[in-house]
Amino acid sequence: MGKQETVLVVQWIERWPPKLEIEVQLLSRAQKIADRILSIPVGGPAPLVGKLGNCGFHVITHCKYAMEYKKKIKKNISLKKYSTLGIGGIAELFFLAKKPEDIISAVLWAKKKKVPVKIFAGGSNVFFEKKKVEGLLICARGGKILKKERGYIVDSGVSLDLVIKKSLRDGYTGLESLTAIPGTIGGAIYGNAGAYGHSISEVVKRVQIFNGKRTLWVSGAASKFGYRNSIFKRRSLYILRVEILLKKDKNDAAADVSKKIRAIRNKKYPPTLKCPGSFFKNIFVKDISHKAKKIIDSSKIVEGKIPAGYLLESVGAKGMVVGGMRVMDYHGNLFVNQKNATTYDVNKITTTLKKRVKRRFDIDLEEEVMRF
Ligand SMILES: Cc1cc2nc3c(=O)[nH]c(=O)nc-3n(C[C@H](O)[C@H](O)[C@H](O)COP(=O)(O)OP(=O)(O)OC[C@H]3O[C@@H](n4cnc5c(N)ncnc54)[C@H](O)[C@@H]3O)c2cc1C
Repeated sequence: MGKQETVLVVQWIERWPPKLEIEVQLLSRAQKIADRILSIPVGGPAPLVGKLGNCGFHVITHCKYAMEYKKKIKKNISLKKYSTLGIGGIAELFFLAKKPEDIISAVLWAKKKKVPVKIFAGGSNVFFEKKKVEGLLICARGGKILKKERGYIVDSGVSLDLVIKKSLRDGYTGLESLTAIPGTIGGAIYGNAGAYGHSISEVVKRVQIFNGKRTLWVSGAASKFGYRNSIFKRRSLYILRVEILLKKDKNDAAADVSKKIRAIRNKKYPPTLKCPGSFFKNIFVKDISHKAKKIIDSSKIVEGKIPAGYLLESVGAKGMVVGGMRVMDYHGNLFVNQKNATTYDVNKITTTLKKRVKRRFDIDLEEEVMRF
Protein backbone atom coordinates (compact mmCIF):
# COMPACT_ATOMS: atom_id res chain seq x y z
CA MET A 1 0.00 0.00 0.00
CA GLY A 2 1.44 3.41 -0.98
CA LYS A 3 0.53 6.66 0.68
CA GLN A 4 -0.51 9.83 -1.08
CA GLU A 5 0.25 13.15 0.59
CA THR A 6 -2.87 14.80 1.92
CA VAL A 7 -3.15 18.57 1.85
CA LEU A 8 -5.73 20.44 3.86
CA VAL A 9 -6.62 23.73 2.20
CA VAL A 10 -8.20 26.21 4.55
CA GLN A 11 -10.33 28.61 2.60
CA TRP A 12 -12.08 30.64 5.24
CA ILE A 13 -9.27 33.02 5.90
CA GLU A 14 -11.59 35.84 6.94
CA ARG A 15 -12.95 33.59 9.68
CA TRP A 16 -9.52 32.33 10.69
CA PRO A 17 -9.15 30.95 13.31
CA PRO A 18 -12.43 29.04 13.03
CA LYS A 19 -14.95 30.01 15.65
CA LEU A 20 -18.02 27.83 15.38
CA GLU A 21 -17.83 24.57 17.29
CA ILE A 22 -18.45 22.43 14.20
CA GLU A 23 -15.70 24.23 12.26
CA VAL A 24 -13.20 23.77 15.06
CA GLN A 25 -14.00 20.09 15.48
CA LEU A 26 -13.96 19.33 11.77
CA LEU A 27 -10.69 21.18 11.37
CA SER A 28 -9.02 19.33 14.21
CA ARG A 29 -10.13 16.00 12.72
CA ALA A 30 -9.00 17.04 9.26
CA GLN A 31 -5.63 18.12 10.67
CA LYS A 32 -5.10 14.60 11.94
CA ILE A 33 -5.32 13.16 8.46
CA ALA A 34 -3.48 15.99 6.70
CA ASP A 35 0.26 16.07 6.07
CA ARG A 36 0.31 19.74 5.19
CA ILE A 37 -1.97 22.66 5.83
CA LEU A 38 -2.26 25.60 3.47
CA SER A 39 -4.39 28.67 4.12
CA ILE A 40 -5.68 30.29 0.97
CA PRO A 41 -7.46 33.62 0.55
CA VAL A 42 -11.12 33.19 -0.16
CA GLY A 43 -11.88 33.78 -3.82
CA GLY A 44 -8.49 32.58 -5.01
CA PRO A 45 -8.29 28.90 -4.17
CA ALA A 46 -9.97 27.18 -7.09
CA PRO A 47 -7.03 27.14 -9.57
CA LEU A 48 -4.57 26.26 -6.82
CA VAL A 49 -6.73 23.44 -5.53
CA GLY A 50 -6.97 22.10 -9.10
CA LYS A 51 -3.18 22.35 -9.54
CA LEU A 52 -2.48 20.51 -6.29
CA GLY A 53 -4.89 17.77 -7.36
CA ASN A 54 -3.18 17.42 -10.71
CA CYS A 55 0.23 17.20 -9.00
CA GLY A 56 -0.95 14.06 -7.22
CA PHE A 57 -1.88 15.59 -3.88
CA HIS A 58 -5.03 14.53 -2.16
CA VAL A 59 -6.70 17.85 -1.36
CA ILE A 60 -9.29 18.40 1.31
CA THR A 61 -10.97 21.80 1.38
CA HIS A 62 -12.47 20.93 4.67
CA CYS A 63 -13.27 24.22 6.30
CA LYS A 64 -15.19 25.34 3.29
CA TYR A 65 -17.68 22.57 3.91
CA ALA A 66 -18.07 23.00 7.60
CA MET A 67 -21.10 25.25 7.47
CA GLU A 68 -22.64 24.07 4.21
CA TYR A 69 -22.19 20.55 5.34
CA LYS A 70 -24.80 20.35 8.05
CA LYS A 71 -27.39 21.49 5.53
CA LYS A 72 -26.47 18.73 3.09
CA ILE A 73 -27.20 15.88 5.48
CA LYS A 74 -30.84 15.01 4.95
CA LYS A 75 -33.09 13.21 7.40
CA ASN A 76 -35.51 10.31 6.87
CA ILE A 77 -34.96 9.89 3.15
CA SER A 78 -36.89 7.12 1.36
CA LEU A 79 -34.46 4.67 -0.23
CA LYS A 80 -36.87 3.15 -2.74
CA LYS A 81 -35.72 5.26 -5.67
CA TYR A 82 -32.04 4.78 -4.80
CA SER A 83 -32.10 1.03 -5.46
CA THR A 84 -32.73 -0.63 -8.84
CA LEU A 85 -34.86 -3.20 -6.97
CA GLY A 86 -37.21 -0.39 -5.97
CA ILE A 87 -37.62 -1.53 -2.37
CA GLY A 88 -36.53 0.38 0.70
CA GLY A 89 -37.42 1.98 3.97
CA ILE A 90 -35.80 5.20 5.07
CA ALA A 91 -32.27 6.34 5.84
CA GLU A 92 -32.13 8.10 9.19
CA LEU A 93 -29.41 10.41 7.82
CA PHE A 94 -28.55 10.58 4.13
CA PHE A 95 -25.72 12.32 2.32
CA LEU A 96 -25.10 12.51 -1.41
CA ALA A 97 -21.32 12.51 -1.96
CA LYS A 98 -20.56 14.03 -5.36
CA LYS A 99 -16.80 13.63 -5.14
CA PRO A 100 -14.25 11.61 -3.14
CA GLU A 101 -13.56 14.43 -0.68
CA ASP A 102 -17.26 14.45 0.23
CA ILE A 103 -16.97 10.80 1.28
CA ILE A 104 -14.08 11.65 3.61
CA SER A 105 -15.93 14.61 5.09
CA ALA A 106 -19.06 12.56 5.66
CA VAL A 107 -17.19 9.70 7.34
CA LEU A 108 -15.36 12.14 9.63
CA TRP A 109 -18.64 13.85 10.45
CA ALA A 110 -20.28 10.54 11.36
CA LYS A 111 -17.32 9.56 13.52
CA LYS A 112 -17.49 12.87 15.30
CA LYS A 113 -21.20 12.44 15.92
CA LYS A 114 -20.61 8.79 16.88
CA VAL A 115 -23.22 7.54 14.45
CA PRO A 116 -22.78 4.40 12.35
CA VAL A 117 -21.86 5.07 8.75
CA LYS A 118 -22.47 3.02 5.61
CA ILE A 119 -21.87 3.69 1.94
CA PHE A 120 -23.54 2.66 -1.28
CA ALA A 121 -23.44 4.12 -4.79
CA GLY A 122 -25.55 3.28 -7.86
CA GLY A 123 -27.83 0.99 -5.82
CA SER A 124 -27.76 -1.73 -8.49
CA ASN A 125 -26.54 -4.47 -6.16
CA VAL A 126 -28.26 -3.57 -2.90
CA PHE A 127 -31.40 -4.67 -1.10
CA PHE A 128 -32.58 -2.08 1.42
CA GLU A 129 -34.41 -4.62 3.52
CA LYS A 130 -34.77 -2.58 6.72
CA LYS A 131 -37.58 -0.18 7.60
CA LYS A 132 -34.89 2.22 8.76
CA VAL A 133 -31.15 2.31 8.06
CA GLU A 134 -29.74 3.76 11.28
CA GLY A 135 -27.00 6.39 11.26
CA LEU A 136 -25.54 8.05 8.19
CA LEU A 137 -25.92 6.48 4.76
CA ILE A 138 -23.56 7.93 2.15
CA CYS A 139 -24.60 7.66 -1.49
CA ALA A 140 -21.50 8.16 -3.70
CA ARG A 141 -22.60 9.34 -7.12
CA GLY A 142 -20.62 11.63 -9.39
CA GLY A 143 -17.04 12.69 -9.89
CA LYS A 144 -14.36 13.11 -12.51
CA ILE A 145 -12.46 11.01 -15.01
CA LEU A 146 -8.81 12.00 -15.38
CA LYS A 147 -7.15 10.78 -18.59
CA LYS A 148 -3.72 9.18 -18.24
CA GLU A 149 -1.35 7.91 -20.88
CA ARG A 150 -2.55 4.33 -20.51
CA GLY A 151 -5.97 4.67 -18.93
CA TYR A 152 -7.72 6.81 -16.36
CA ILE A 153 -7.99 7.78 -12.73
CA VAL A 154 -11.72 7.67 -12.04
CA ASP A 155 -13.60 8.95 -8.97
CA SER A 156 -15.52 6.09 -7.37
CA GLY A 157 -18.97 7.63 -7.93
CA VAL A 158 -18.63 7.76 -11.72
CA SER A 159 -20.88 5.43 -13.74
CA LEU A 160 -18.95 2.39 -14.99
CA ASP A 161 -20.77 2.47 -18.32
CA LEU A 162 -19.79 6.12 -18.81
CA VAL A 163 -16.12 5.15 -18.37
CA ILE A 164 -16.54 2.32 -20.90
CA LYS A 165 -18.14 4.62 -23.49
CA LYS A 166 -15.36 7.18 -22.99
CA SER A 167 -12.64 4.54 -23.19
CA LEU A 168 -13.91 3.34 -26.57
CA ARG A 169 -14.11 6.92 -27.86
CA ASP A 170 -10.53 7.52 -26.68
CA GLY A 171 -9.32 4.41 -28.51
CA TYR A 172 -8.76 2.20 -25.46
CA THR A 173 -9.75 -1.45 -25.11
CA GLY A 174 -10.10 -3.67 -22.07
CA LEU A 175 -13.45 -2.71 -20.61
CA GLU A 176 -15.83 -3.61 -23.44
CA SER A 177 -17.03 -6.91 -21.91
CA LEU A 178 -18.44 -5.00 -18.96
CA THR A 179 -20.65 -2.81 -21.17
CA ALA A 180 -23.99 -1.82 -19.64
CA ILE A 181 -23.34 -3.23 -16.17
CA PRO A 182 -25.28 -0.70 -14.09
CA GLY A 183 -23.78 1.26 -11.22
CA THR A 184 -20.55 3.05 -10.46
CA ILE A 185 -16.91 2.10 -10.81
CA GLY A 186 -16.62 2.11 -6.98
CA GLY A 187 -19.44 -0.42 -6.71
CA ALA A 188 -17.82 -2.50 -9.45
CA ILE A 189 -14.50 -2.54 -7.58
CA TYR A 190 -16.18 -3.51 -4.31
CA GLY A 191 -17.76 -6.64 -5.79
CA ASN A 192 -15.30 -7.17 -8.67
CA ALA A 193 -18.10 -6.88 -11.20
CA GLY A 194 -17.79 -8.91 -14.35
CA ALA A 195 -19.49 -10.38 -17.37
CA TYR A 196 -18.72 -12.47 -20.44
CA GLY A 197 -15.64 -14.07 -18.88
CA HIS A 198 -13.99 -10.83 -17.75
CA SER A 199 -14.01 -8.78 -14.59
CA ILE A 200 -13.00 -5.26 -13.62
CA SER A 201 -10.00 -6.54 -11.62
CA GLU A 202 -8.19 -7.25 -14.92
CA VAL A 203 -7.69 -3.53 -15.57
CA VAL A 204 -7.19 -2.21 -12.02
CA LYS A 205 -3.75 -0.74 -11.34
CA ARG A 206 -4.58 0.66 -7.90
CA VAL A 207 -7.48 1.78 -5.75
CA GLN A 208 -7.47 4.81 -3.49
CA ILE A 209 -9.29 4.25 -0.22
CA PHE A 210 -10.07 6.12 2.97
CA ASN A 211 -9.77 3.93 6.05
CA GLY A 212 -11.37 6.37 8.46
CA LYS A 213 -8.01 7.97 9.24
CA ARG A 214 -5.91 8.25 6.11
CA THR A 215 -6.14 7.95 2.37
CA LEU A 216 -4.07 5.15 0.84
CA TRP A 217 -3.46 3.67 -2.60
CA VAL A 218 -3.94 -0.10 -2.63
CA SER A 219 -2.42 -1.99 -5.55
CA GLY A 220 -4.54 -4.30 -7.72
CA ALA A 221 -2.75 -7.31 -6.18
CA ALA A 222 -3.34 -6.09 -2.61
CA SER A 223 -7.03 -5.61 -3.44
CA LYS A 224 -7.30 -9.43 -3.35
CA PHE A 225 -9.88 -9.65 -6.09
CA GLY A 226 -11.75 -12.91 -6.55
CA TYR A 227 -15.07 -13.96 -8.04
CA ARG A 228 -17.43 -11.13 -6.96
CA ASN A 229 -15.03 -10.47 -4.13
CA SER A 230 -12.34 -8.05 -2.98
CA ILE A 231 -10.61 -6.89 0.16
CA PHE A 232 -13.08 -3.99 0.26
CA LYS A 233 -15.89 -6.44 1.04
CA ARG A 234 -14.02 -7.83 3.98
CA ARG A 235 -12.97 -4.55 5.61
CA SER A 236 -14.68 -1.29 6.33
CA LEU A 237 -12.98 0.80 3.65
CA TYR A 238 -14.27 3.64 1.52
CA ILE A 239 -13.29 3.54 -2.13
CA LEU A 240 -12.36 7.03 -3.39
CA ARG A 241 -10.69 6.59 -6.77
CA VAL A 242 -9.56 3.86 -9.12
CA GLU A 243 -6.66 3.89 -11.56
CA ILE A 244 -7.30 1.64 -14.52
CA LEU A 245 -4.79 0.53 -17.16
CA LEU A 246 -6.13 -0.04 -20.65
CA LYS A 247 -4.66 -0.92 -24.03
CA LYS A 248 -4.29 1.80 -26.62
CA ASP A 249 -5.69 -0.09 -29.54
CA LYS A 250 -8.05 1.77 -31.83
CA ASN A 251 -9.82 -1.17 -33.33
CA ASP A 252 -13.44 -1.58 -34.23
CA ALA A 253 -13.62 -5.06 -32.71
CA ALA A 254 -13.90 -3.74 -29.16
CA ALA A 255 -16.58 -1.23 -30.13
CA ASP A 256 -18.39 -4.04 -31.91
CA VAL A 257 -18.26 -6.32 -28.86
CA SER A 258 -19.57 -3.46 -26.74
CA LYS A 259 -22.42 -2.77 -29.15
CA LYS A 260 -23.47 -6.44 -29.27
CA ILE A 261 -23.33 -6.82 -25.50
CA ARG A 262 -25.40 -3.65 -25.03
CA ALA A 263 -28.08 -5.01 -27.36
CA ILE A 264 -28.20 -8.38 -25.55
CA ARG A 265 -28.33 -6.73 -22.13
CA ASN A 266 -30.99 -4.21 -23.12
CA LYS A 267 -33.19 -7.13 -24.10
CA LYS A 268 -32.46 -9.14 -20.97
CA TYR A 269 -32.68 -6.17 -18.60
CA PRO A 270 -34.97 -3.53 -20.08
CA PRO A 271 -34.59 -0.18 -18.27
CA THR A 272 -37.98 -0.55 -16.56
CA LEU A 273 -37.00 -3.87 -14.92
CA LYS A 274 -36.74 -3.46 -11.14
CA CYS A 275 -34.04 -5.90 -10.06
CA PRO A 276 -30.57 -6.03 -8.48
CA GLY A 277 -28.98 -8.12 -11.27
CA SER A 278 -28.28 -11.74 -10.28
CA PHE A 279 -29.47 -12.34 -6.74
CA PHE A 280 -27.18 -15.31 -5.99
CA LYS A 281 -23.55 -16.04 -6.83
CA ASN A 282 -22.52 -18.91 -9.06
CA ILE A 283 -20.96 -21.90 -7.31
CA PHE A 284 -17.41 -23.20 -7.75
CA VAL A 285 -17.48 -26.90 -8.69
CA LYS A 286 -14.54 -27.49 -6.32
CA ASP A 287 -16.75 -26.42 -3.41
CA ILE A 288 -19.64 -28.82 -3.92
CA SER A 289 -20.24 -32.23 -2.38
CA HIS A 290 -19.81 -35.59 -4.08
CA LYS A 291 -23.60 -36.01 -4.09
CA ALA A 292 -24.08 -32.71 -5.92
CA LYS A 293 -21.39 -33.54 -8.50
CA LYS A 294 -23.24 -36.72 -9.39
CA ILE A 295 -26.56 -35.02 -10.18
CA ILE A 296 -25.37 -31.83 -11.84
CA ASP A 297 -25.42 -31.71 -15.62
CA SER A 298 -21.73 -31.14 -16.41
CA SER A 299 -22.60 -29.34 -19.67
CA LYS A 300 -23.92 -26.46 -17.51
CA ILE A 301 -20.52 -25.80 -15.90
CA VAL A 302 -18.94 -22.55 -17.10
CA GLU A 303 -15.36 -21.61 -16.19
CA GLY A 304 -15.35 -24.01 -13.23
CA LYS A 305 -18.63 -22.66 -11.87
CA ILE A 306 -22.20 -23.92 -11.79
CA PRO A 307 -24.57 -21.08 -12.65
CA ALA A 308 -26.93 -20.34 -9.74
CA GLY A 309 -29.59 -19.81 -12.43
CA TYR A 310 -29.32 -23.48 -13.46
CA LEU A 311 -29.69 -24.70 -9.85
CA LEU A 312 -32.66 -22.41 -9.25
CA GLU A 313 -34.30 -23.39 -12.51
CA SER A 314 -33.91 -27.07 -11.57
CA VAL A 315 -35.99 -26.50 -8.42
CA GLY A 316 -38.78 -24.68 -10.22
CA ALA A 317 -37.75 -21.04 -9.78
CA LYS A 318 -38.65 -19.78 -13.25
CA GLY A 319 -41.96 -17.94 -13.24
CA MET A 320 -42.40 -18.30 -9.46
CA VAL A 321 -44.36 -15.45 -7.85
CA VAL A 322 -44.51 -14.39 -4.20
CA GLY A 323 -46.47 -11.20 -3.53
CA GLY A 324 -44.96 -8.54 -5.78
CA MET A 325 -41.79 -10.52 -6.55
CA ARG A 326 -41.35 -12.74 -9.56
CA VAL A 327 -38.53 -14.90 -10.92
CA MET A 328 -38.24 -14.22 -14.63
CA ASP A 329 -39.36 -16.96 -17.03
CA TYR A 330 -36.09 -16.72 -18.97
CA HIS A 331 -33.64 -16.61 -16.04
CA GLY A 332 -33.86 -18.50 -12.74
CA ASN A 333 -31.51 -16.05 -10.96
CA LEU A 334 -33.34 -12.90 -11.98
CA PHE A 335 -35.66 -11.79 -9.17
CA VAL A 336 -37.85 -8.87 -10.16
CA ASN A 337 -40.04 -6.46 -8.21
CA GLN A 338 -43.06 -6.72 -10.43
CA LYS A 339 -45.61 -4.87 -8.36
CA ASN A 340 -44.93 -3.05 -5.09
CA ALA A 341 -42.90 -5.93 -3.68
CA THR A 342 -41.92 -5.82 -0.01
CA THR A 343 -38.98 -7.06 2.04
CA TYR A 344 -41.23 -9.94 3.15
CA ASP A 345 -41.80 -10.99 -0.49
CA VAL A 346 -38.07 -10.94 -1.29
CA ASN A 347 -37.18 -12.93 1.83
CA LYS A 348 -39.95 -15.46 1.28
CA ILE A 349 -39.11 -16.18 -2.36
CA THR A 350 -35.34 -16.30 -1.81
CA THR A 351 -35.40 -18.45 1.35
CA THR A 352 -37.89 -20.89 -0.21
CA LEU A 353 -35.65 -21.36 -3.23
CA LYS A 354 -32.47 -21.54 -1.16
CA LYS A 355 -34.02 -24.37 0.87
CA ARG A 356 -35.06 -26.22 -2.28
CA VAL A 357 -31.53 -25.96 -3.74
CA LYS A 358 -30.05 -27.16 -0.46
CA ARG A 359 -32.42 -30.12 -0.33
CA ARG A 360 -31.89 -31.15 -3.94
CA PHE A 361 -28.17 -30.42 -4.43
CA ASP A 362 -26.76 -30.03 -0.90
CA ILE A 363 -25.55 -26.57 -1.97
CA ASP A 364 -25.86 -23.38 0.10
CA LEU A 365 -26.51 -20.50 -2.27
CA GLU A 366 -24.69 -17.30 -1.35
CA GLU A 367 -26.25 -13.92 -2.06
CA GLU A 368 -24.45 -11.55 -4.42
CA VAL A 369 -26.80 -8.73 -3.45
CA MET A 370 -25.71 -6.67 -0.43
CA ARG A 371 -28.32 -6.17 2.28
CA PHE A 372 -28.65 -2.89 4.18
C1 LIG B 1 -29.89 -5.13 -14.55
C2 LIG B 1 -28.64 -5.44 -13.79
C3 LIG B 1 -27.65 -6.22 -14.38
C4 LIG B 1 -26.48 -6.50 -13.68
N1 LIG B 1 -25.50 -7.25 -14.30
C5 LIG B 1 -24.35 -7.48 -13.65
C6 LIG B 1 -23.30 -8.23 -14.29
O1 LIG B 1 -23.41 -8.65 -15.42
N2 LIG B 1 -22.16 -8.44 -13.59
C7 LIG B 1 -21.98 -7.98 -12.32
O2 LIG B 1 -20.92 -8.19 -11.73
N3 LIG B 1 -22.95 -7.26 -11.69
C8 LIG B 1 -24.12 -7.02 -12.33
N4 LIG B 1 -25.11 -6.31 -11.70
C9 LIG B 1 -24.92 -5.87 -10.31
C10 LIG B 1 -24.37 -4.44 -10.17
O3 LIG B 1 -24.63 -3.69 -11.32
C11 LIG B 1 -22.89 -4.44 -9.89
O4 LIG B 1 -22.60 -5.16 -8.75
C12 LIG B 1 -22.36 -3.00 -9.73
O5 LIG B 1 -20.97 -3.01 -9.86
C13 LIG B 1 -22.76 -2.35 -8.41
O6 LIG B 1 -22.39 -0.97 -8.46
P1 LIG B 1 -23.22 0.13 -7.66
O7 LIG B 1 -22.52 1.43 -7.81
O8 LIG B 1 -24.64 0.10 -8.07
O9 LIG B 1 -23.06 -0.38 -6.17
P2 LIG B 1 -24.18 -0.44 -5.05
O10 LIG B 1 -25.23 -1.41 -5.45
O11 LIG B 1 -24.63 0.91 -4.67
O12 LIG B 1 -23.34 -1.05 -3.85
C14 LIG B 1 -22.90 -2.38 -3.90
C15 LIG B 1 -21.88 -2.59 -2.76
O13 LIG B 1 -20.73 -1.81 -3.05
C16 LIG B 1 -20.38 -1.03 -1.92
N5 LIG B 1 -19.85 0.25 -2.39
C17 LIG B 1 -20.33 1.03 -3.40
N6 LIG B 1 -19.57 2.14 -3.55
C18 LIG B 1 -18.60 2.07 -2.59
C19 LIG B 1 -17.51 2.93 -2.23
N7 LIG B 1 -17.26 4.07 -2.86
N8 LIG B 1 -16.72 2.54 -1.20
C20 LIG B 1 -16.94 1.37 -0.53
N9 LIG B 1 -17.95 0.53 -0.84
C21 LIG B 1 -18.76 0.88 -1.86
C22 LIG B 1 -21.67 -0.85 -1.12
O14 LIG B 1 -21.40 -0.72 0.26
C23 LIG B 1 -22.42 -2.15 -1.41
O15 LIG B 1 -22.10 -3.13 -0.44
C24 LIG B 1 -26.30 -6.01 -12.37
C25 LIG B 1 -27.31 -5.23 -11.78
C26 LIG B 1 -28.46 -4.94 -12.47
C27 LIG B 1 -29.51 -4.10 -11.84
